[in-house]
Amino acid sequence: MMSILGNGFKPKSFFILASFLSFLLLLASSPATGQTEKPRYQDLADKIAQKGMNEGYAYSVLQKLTRIGGRLAGSAQAAAAVEIMRQEMEDLGFENVHLEPTIVGRWVRGEPEEGRIVSAKLGTIPISICALGGSISTSADGVSAQVLEVKSFEELQKLGQKARGRIIFFNRPMNPTYVDTFRAYGEAADQRVSGAAAAAKAEGVAALVRSLTFGENEFPHTGMMRYEPGVPKIPAICVSTKGANILSQALRDDPDLVVLLKTSCATLSPLTSYNVIGEIRGSEKPDEIILLGAHLDSWDLGEGAHDDGAGCAQVIDALRLLKQVELRPKRTLRGVLFMDEEFGGTGGRDYANSEQRKGEIHLAAIESDRGGFLPLGFNVGGGEAALAKVKQWEYLFKPLGLCWIKPGGGGVDISPLAASGTIMMGLVPDSQRYFDYHHCSQDVLQAVHPRELELGAIDMALLGYVLADAGI
Ligand SMILES: [Zn+2]
Repeated sequence: MMSILGNGFKPKSFFILASFLSFLLLLASSPATGQTEKPRYQDLADKIAQKGMNEGYAYSVLQKLTRIGGRLAGSAQAAAAVEIMRQEMEDLGFENVHLEPTIVGRWVRGEPEEGRIVSAKLGTIPISICALGGSISTSADGVSAQVLEVKSFEELQKLGQKARGRIIFFNRPMNPTYVDTFRAYGEAADQRVSGAAAAAKAEGVAALVRSLTFGENEFPHTGMMRYEPGVPKIPAICVSTKGANILSQALRDDPDLVVLLKTSCATLSPLTSYNVIGEIRGSEKPDEIILLGAHLDSWDLGEGAHDDGAGCAQVIDALRLLKQVELRPKRTLRGVLFMDEEFGGTGGRDYANSEQRKGEIHLAAIESDRGGFLPLGFNVGGGEAALAKVKQWEYLFKPLGLCWIKPGGGGVDISPLAASGTIMMGLVPDSQRYFDYHHCSQDVLQAVHPRELELGAIDMALLGYVLADAGI
């Protein structure tokens, strides 16, 4: 066979020359020498950030949601929210848009709700109250009794007989020395959740609980409470922090005063509601899923803007941003707006246990349910290995103002997925103002800043895409 390289060809010298040429080519394309080479995904991050900040679309989703009003699970407003968000996903061209059923309990608040201190010495002083979610109503005339103030269940137990026939007033404030407001909330929430059961065991006639917020104001903050099987059900009511301080002072001035509390709430029969689901289908491994989640239901007193309309708006906008920059990840990126987080998390459990999960592998789930404030970081579960994998993308988030990626969990809605090995993650915004709005009438659209909200959507889009592309 004739050599095309002519007579002087020596295989060894050709090999050396070829190796040298490939080395030069490699050098030219190496990130170490390529001044213009950007780190992986940086172009995408820039594109998404610019588009997101320019359009501020998350806020428009939040407007649609908050316009409905409070979206208590099982309410007409919650049903409207399901339909509006399903339509939104359709309009944005998400794939596989569908509803998955979940049976939700139904509790309704009646009007009016009324509280007042009645004292021979001090006169009549109104206090701002509201029923806690799940509570029985007072009688039409209300419950009227002397008051026993306590700071803890232990203190209540020690007081023994003194609790009998009284309204038990749980007045332990959230610990203001904690920088982590969720820790302060977590340590004070036992009063709200289990106060009525503890009061009933002590033969009290109602539980009156200090609102879980730091500031002193007129707004009662509702939230879920639980009765205990075999323990009598008594009304569970919360009082604004200002009302709690007034009552505490009034008790010092006149220990014999009486408090009158009137509520008219009720528990109705459960009904079927829905999780709202839409996705961008993965190009290579469609059955491997990265989930972005938030919850659609809210409390009834406000508009559920921070809790958790903000999260829903971010989930939708995150998928929208990725869709619009025309990037299809290797794995499926799925948005799930869960129903019924506030009343027990049935939506999250039914999603995880659904027949439709068969054959699907949820690699990671990222929840946004800590308000629409300025994002500070991501919590990442799943141990050291998962944390290290996510931390390698930290450089993408720093220019967006995100300060850290730390070990931690996701949220209530996605937690049932953890049993099958899904790595839990959570967007963590600044929480200093969160409990000013949480579960009260102040949680409205105006309390959310469009730019802070959008940054969360961009962060979710970016982390979601990177995980769906690179895996974890
Ligand atoms: Zn929430």
